[in-house]
Amino acid sequence: MAGTSSDVVVIGGGVIGVSSAWWLEQAGYSVTIVERRHSLGSLTTPNALGTIRTQYGTPSLVALAQESLEFYRDIDARLGVKPSDIEFANPGYVYLSDRADDVDRLAEALTMYQGLGVTSSELLDEADIRRRFPFAGDSVAGIFHRDGSFVNPALVTGAWAGRLSNTTVLLDSGVNAIEPTSSGWRVSTDRGHVDADAVVVAAGPYAAQLLSPFGVDLPVRVTPRYRVFIPDDDPDHKVAPLVINVVNGSYWRPVPGGVWLSTANVDDRTVEPQESVEVPDDFLATAIEEIRPVSPRLAATAEAADPASLTYAGGFQSYPIDDVPIIGAVPGHEGLFANVGHWAGIMLSPASGRLLADVVAGTSGTENPCGFDRFTAGTAKRSSTNKFGGWG
Ligand SMILES: Cc1cc2nc3c(=O)[nH]c(=O)nc-3n(C[C@H](O)[C@H](O)[C@H](O)COP(=O)(O)OP(=O)(O)OC[C@H]3O[C@@H](n4cnc5c(N)ncnc54)[C@H](O)[C@@H]3O)c2cc1C
Repeated sequence: MAGTSSDVVVIGGGVIGVSSAWWLEQAGYSVTIVERRHSLGSLTTPNALGTIRTQYGTPSLVALAQESLEFYRDIDARLGVKPSDIEFANPGYVYLSDRADDVDRLAEALTMYQGLGVTSSELLDEADIRRRFPFAGDSVAGIFHRDGSFVNPALVTGAWAGRLSNTTVLLDSGVNAIEPTSSGWRVSTDRGHVDADAVVVAAGPYAAQLLSPFGVDLPVRVTPRYRVFIPDDDPDHKVAPLVINVVNGSYWRPVPGGVWLSTANVDDRTVEPQESVEVPDDFLATAIEEIRPVSPRLAATAEAADPASLTYAGGFQSYPIDDVPIIGAVPGHEGLFANVGHWAGIMLSPASGRLLADVVAGTSGTENPCGFDRFTAGTAKRSSTNKFGGWG
């Protein structure tokens, strides 16, 4: 079979693969992206809600998110595309609860976030909520996070891909072997092979399958998440921030013509990834009930909607045990790297691509909070403070 070569092969052309390729180019490498599907950014990435924040309960996530938000704000200078080209907007996030006993819990959470350098969040009392968020139903307590922003995931992927100049993209090229050679690596695909000095696995939910031959038991849960588009012309909803019910983690954001509604998945399920995600029959009913306390008008609109007007999507999110993506050199296999474990990959694509390129180039320094060694060192701690249903 025919073969080509480049300095680095990136396996996977989702948002993480293309941002990694762009940053690798900036570091001076020629790159080949090998992607099993017909187009870039077509598996998990296009089904995301495209929401961005810097409020997390884990220091390394705060740092990655702050760096990424700065990149998005400055995207014109960085990638040469206008913020409007990726539908960037900064309406904030509002975390709401209809439970009076959550007032103290939210205050404690805010203190914790502020201790981690999150300066853009404030507590809301019932009067603030009534005044600022007239759609918020029985909410009595909340946090408003000013950094909260939106992008369009497909447009972000297109922005990274559109600026690649030293990268070859091989589509319809599923990888079936990654093997060391005398001078580097050979990546074999359905349509030929690519030789390279280094290989980066950025295969989203399939990462564990590709890394297991190298002795890596990836500590990542792969779990489905769904969204539904609901047509909605409520003027208060059109200008809303991301709205989260912190009691159960359900959330929605406005998009042109309506809203995207989703629910959290903070349980311990893990599934085998597939090429498409089947949305369960009860997803809509569950999402409506979960969001109703903090957005009753939206719940009523969704209930009254013509089922034919609703559009569903879903994907497999990857959750490392400590919620921090895994970006680093695969131990014991020189020249093999990973940029995987992304459950917030749209928001973190700028910083994770940059860190990956630094690791490949050997310029990341000795401290890499996203590396594999945190698992062997036992410093990776399970966290409940990053996800919506668990205060994140
Ligand atoms: C409903 C939902 C809502 C979400 N909301 C948000 C949000 O608001 N904000 C946010 O930041 N994130 C959100 N996410 C998460 C986000 O979508 C992911 O973190 C991100 O898309 C991961 O990108 P990726 O490139 O790692 O994976 P993917 O997009 O899955 O890309 C991996 C690619 O690797 C390819 N691949 C795999 N195996 C092989 C192989 N053997 N050979 C060749 N190619 C291979 C796949 O075909 C795929 O194209 C959401 C996800 C879902 C499902």
